[in-house]
Amino acid sequence: MREEGSRERTIPVLYLVVPCYNEEEVIEKSASVLGGKLRRLSQEGKIAFGSKVMFVNDGSKDGTLTLLHRIASQDALFSVVSLAGNYGHQSAILAGMMTARQYADAVVTIDADLQQDIEALDRFLECYMAGCEVVYGVRNDRHSDGIFKKGTATLYYNLMHLLGSKVLTNHADYRLMSKKALDALAEYQETNLFLRGLIPTMGFPSDVVYFDVKAREAGHSKYTLSKMMTLAMDGITSMSVRPLRLIGALGFLVFVFSFVMSVLSLVDWARGNNVPGYTTTMIVSLLIGGVTLLSLGVIGEYVGKIYMETKHRPRYIIDTFVWKEEAREDK
Ligand code: UDP
Ligand code: MG
Repeated sequence: MREEGSRERTIPVLYLVVPCYNEEEVIEKSASVLGGKLRRLSQEGKIAFGSKVMFVNDGSKDGTLTLLHRIASQDALFSVVSLAGNYGHQSAILAGMMTARQYADAVVTIDADLQQDIEALDRFLECYMAGCEVVYGVRNDRHSDGIFKKGTATLYYNLMHLLGSKVLTNHADYRLMSKKALDALAEYQETNLFLRGLIPTMGFPSDVVYFDVKAREAGHSKYTLSKMMTLAMDGITSMSVRPLRLIGALGFLVFVFSFVMSVLSLVDWARGNNVPGYTTTMIVSLLIGGVTLLSLGVIGEYVGKIYMETKHRPRYIIDTFVWKEEAREDK
């Protein structure tokens, strides 16, 4: 008997999509750990024949690509997609997922540095078998991070929630997506990509798996401060037009303030309390400031609408469609 809401599943062909940017120090270790895990899962009957590790070389400038070619030529368990340049983590993941969905029933994205606990895969698969289309990996704590990264991360997630994003706190891009969810993701045409914010807005049954974060196996972080800032800004501006709204709100406040100040300085003028010219100067500068910001807010509102329209996002995603042709009543 099937549980309410669950879907019938067969053991999936699983692809691990691994973005790599200048990872020559760690890539061989990663290949053996990730490959070993896939072999074990397949022996345990949890994944189907044909499952693979798919490395996505994101325009590495070191020996990563050479190593990847060697790894893939020795063992059919590994495949390599190499991008023409460095497009960044998010685009690398997307390229891998979009390629893998042609062959896989489920795709898990995971970093090359083995920081994310690969043993959590079993629980990802359990959720998939129970009917989830998306499974989010969420890190247990931030012990391994410095105080700076911990602080900025907390601040960032709070800000994102304040701005209306559905992003999950402490979910990096360690995530399982079914073929169905990937096909839906392919409908999103936008270039300004923030997967963590976008995927939760798609819907679909989903679940969360908690895992521990380890220190990097080798090499150093490829997320420079500027890459992190870009990701953070993309996260906010790609999902929300609230910052534009804030200008509108600010404009309104300044407008009201300037109106009140104008009245007050007129009153002062009538009482003969101020130096000549003060009232006119005040009124002119206040009104110009207030009206400018208010107008900017109105324009911002329209720009926001245009921005959202240009993304050509699907307005809905159909999960299942049950349809039965009625028998014709022939007289
Ligand atoms: N990465 C990538 N392109 C980039 C930067 C990073 O594909 O431009 C990959 C990188 O090789 C790694 C993953 O993204 O597999 C996460 O990067 P990293 O571990 O350096 O980030 P951190 O864990 O420090 O946030
Ligand atoms: Mg890392």
